Amino acid sequence: MLAVIFSAKIVRLLQAFVLDVLLQRKILKESVLRWAMHMLIFWGFILLLFMHALGRIVTDALFSNYEPTLNPYFFLRDLFGLMVLAGVVVAVIRRFFLKIPRLMTSSMDKYAIGILAVIILSGFLLSGVKITSKTEFSDMAEEYAGWLSQEELRALESYWVSDQGLVSSDVTRPFAADVLDQGKQAHESYCAYCHAPAKSAFASYSTGKILSPAAGAMDRAGFVGILWYIHFLSCFIGLAYLPFSKMLHIFSTPITIMANAVMDEKKSKPENVATRQIIELDACTHCCTCSLYCSAMMGYEARQNTYILPSEKIAPLKALAAGRDLNEAETRAIVEGIYLCTNCDRCTVVCPSGINLRQLWLNARERLLQQGPAEPLVLSQLSFVRGLNRKKTPADIYPLPLEKADNAVSAKYRPLLDPDRSIDLTPPAGGQQPTSGFENTFSYCFGCQNCSTVCPVVGNYEDPQEQLGLLPHQIMCSLGLGLTETAMGAKMIWDCLTCYQCQEHCPQNVNVTDILYELKYMAVAGVDEGRQNHDQAGGLR
Ligand code: SF4
Ligand code: SF4
Ligand code: SF4
Ligand code: SF4
Repeated sequence: MLAVIFSAKIVRLLQAFVLDVLLQRKILKESVLRWAMHMLIFWGFILLLFMHALGRIVTDALFSNYEPTLNPYFFLRDLFGLMVLAGVVVAVIRRFFLKIPRLMTSSMDKYAIGILAVIILSGFLLSGVKITSKTEFSDMAEEYAGWLSQEELRALESYWVSDQGLVSSDVTRPFAADVLDQGKQAHESYCAYCHAPAKSAFASYSTGKILSPAAGAMDRAGFVGILWYIHFLSCFIGLAYLPFSKMLHIFSTPITIMANAVMDEKKSKPENVATRQIIELDACTHCCTCSLYCSAMMGYEARQNTYILPSEKIAPLKALAAGRDLNEAETRAIVEGIYLCTNCDRCTVVCPSGINLRQLWLNARERLLQQGPAEPLVLSQLSFVRGLNRKKTPADIYPLPLEKADNAVSAKYRPLLDPDRSIDLTPPAGGQQPTSGFENTFSYCFGCQNCSTVCPVVGNYEDPQEQLGLLPHQIMCSLGLGLTETAMGAKMIWDCLTCYQCQEHCPQNVNVTDILYELKYMAVAGVDEGRQNHDQAGGLR
């Protein structure tokens, strides 16, 4: 830290603090509405927390004249509360009424909105009921002006009913001008030095005015006490649960933004990077901006796996980091979600919390692939990035996910290639075939073997049949015979480089490469379907 303070990085640190933490520049670039919402909640909440909730500790230490019922504090408390409430209203509209694509609302989002709303509304109701309460007034008058005569006390009460929002059936309007003058003098002598005009707390005063027809009944029913308990308990729950809720981002997001502004991943110690990544998991506000820009969104549309969206991957990763076990289905979904990431980095660029998401996925991906269930997609071209980063994984464990996936596919399809097993050549009625009319060109194949001859993968092996199961021309032939499952069992479909040599050399215009590609995804879907049955028998892992 000292090294940062005494270097040029301090400028970057200050810039990140002012522009990204205090002014939330990234959110502003994204959406003015969301920026206004976040600024209102963030600043309203922080100022209320320090000025009001921790007033006796923080505000008292900073301002010697601090008294919560005096201005400007009396006015500011309402202003900050109203800021939070306005932000919460925008959040509710945004999450529940505007149909924003890929904006997911989790139970944690609902909790955060709910607890803020209860804290602020109970606070306003409590202040409003207190303003109207005859019991509160009597207690106050007895404590601070108990020595006044009955006549003076009635004048004070009349003045409070007339000017301070009090509701009392003991004095009746209209009040004589001299009574109000006498009450005002008593107020200025005994009350004003520690009580600003009730109208200063404009939101509470308005709440009191709205409630005034029922004020007498509420006072008798002890609503001041009831609302105090609701307000106190909701604040207590909010603070006690803060470390476990998304509200923790109030503290973790600034740390993340500033750490990422000055931290050089390559020069940092691995333990420091790991610590930063743990903090990053708490910095997510679940704003879903990353999901809006994610390049893998087509995968999400096709697979309907919400864990493909970056915003939805954070919660399960956090659970894993906390040592909690995910169930089978969740683990598989998160492995697929992380694997289908294209490493485009767009989520990292737009994340207003400054989380280095791409790095998070890369780190989690290898660990999940090694520890999690078989993921057949590692056998596909999507493993390109993994292959490029191969040197980052110890050579002895790098092939393990590939073997696991290979075994998973074998468990479903390879038995059909068992030489000791007879194959029924009757085409299955309505059986699984490549479905796009485009790919049905396999029926034109007349077995010239050109495709297998030009294939660089086939040419790479001395005994390609043994290594690849079926060669391209044999796969076309199997499909012609209706033996789709046999074709899907060939290792060839996973080893195909999609170089299109076969397709270009086919004299019959068979779309060989496209067919292999489609077979691969049919096989992945088939393995997914088959997993449940295998699970029950304890297979596939
Ligand atoms: S990771 Fe960033 S962009 Fe994505 S939901 Fe969390 S805070 Fe928003
Ligand atoms: S890096 Fe991955 S998760 Fe992030 S936007 Fe790109 S595809 Fe989506
Ligand atoms: S090149 Fe075309 S016609 Fe010849 S075997 Fe391959 S797919 Fe069949
Ligand atoms: S597309 Fe696949 S099967 Fe066709 S030649 Fe290239 S590697 Fe071989």
